Amino acid sequence: MSGGIAERDWAEAVAAIKAVIRPGAQVLLACHVNPDGDALGSMLGFAQGLQQLGVTGLQCSFPGPLNVPEPLHMPAMDLLIPEEKAYEAPDLLVTFDAASISRLGALARRLDTAAMSIVLDHHASNSGFGKLSLVDPDAAATAVVAARLLERLGVAFDPAIAECLYIALVTDTGSFKFDLTTPEVHELAARLVGSGIRVGEISRRIFDTRPFGAVKLFGEVLGRATLDPAAAKGGGMVTAVATLDDLAKHNQPGYVLEALIDSVRCTAEADVACLLKQVAVNEWAVSLRSKGGVDVSAVAVALGGGGHRLAAGFTGRGSAGEVIEAVRAHLA
Ligand code: AMP
Ligand code: MN
Ligand code: MN
Repeated sequence: MSGGIAERDWAEAVAAIKAVIRPGAQVLLACHVNPDGDALGSMLGFAQGLQQLGVTGLQCSFPGPLNVPEPLHMPAMDLLIPEEKAYEAPDLLVTFDAASISRLGALARRLDTAAMSIVLDHHASNSGFGKLSLVDPDAAATAVVAARLLERLGVAFDPAIAECLYIALVTDTGSFKFDLTTPEVHELAARLVGSGIRVGEISRRIFDTRPFGAVKLFGEVLGRATLDPAAAKGGGMVTAVATLDDLAKHNQPGYVLEALIDSVRCTAEADVACLLKQVAVNEWAVSLRSKGGVDVSAVAVALGGGGHRLAAGFTGRGSAGEVIEAVRAHLA
């Protein structure tokens, strides 16, 4: 066993990858829709590891338009191809950070057509799919699972691979602050940093840089936040709502809101933080965070989403008030 994954499964994954180190093999890597640092970083880091081993014919993709927010620009993005161009029946499919097939959009069809499929993930809510499932709910990031597999394959972390895996690790651990930040996480980080990557520059780009319009936008949305001390069985819930009008007013793209939940969840009087980010009329990307008193992934799963005990999300439909009421009801 390593990280809750059976030795037999590691060996099968290693064999499946060695089998595609040959000319003409078609290998498709896919991560979840609207990818975050872990989804993209674990996939692109892994892709470069496979290239180092001699895998050719590699494709990387995710559902939806191929827009990567500027703070998440990283090495090997030239491997990204739109989902429509993905191999119809690859010899090997590997998925990253996707807890359910719905997170893979139309690419989920490749789970049926691929000769072999490996699922790399760390969501406790993972629904169990793919021919081989390497899921470790105790891993701080999918990148931890991906790095274990790369090291078993004998891949050396060059700076480009290391940058991708480091971005994945630093985003999913909240800069090494969250509970799953184990000695193994720091040991992996040490090996990645040891390759010569510029940690300060990467962190500044990802966490500490935003347009002035976004600073003003955050102020406005936070200014309207509400605190409901009775919610979550008395643990308290803080809620903030960012609309498309807010984004338009400050001329900001939606991705700038990804960082906003970190300001909302600071609220001392609330165990649960809830941020609604409007996607369309009556459609919201909802972020949930807990300080420990509540399992927010259970709430997210009940409302059609997923995630982790302390960080989860779902797509909410209806008015903002209706979505908040649904969350409140599931916390009661
Ligand atoms: P976020 O609030 O977007 O940072 O997401 C927090 C966690 O919830 C991530 O680990 C995601 O995997 C999960 N998550 C967010 N949105 C969804 C969704 N619509 N469906 C399933 N899982 C989600
Ligand atoms: Mn993710
Ligand atoms: Mn993740």
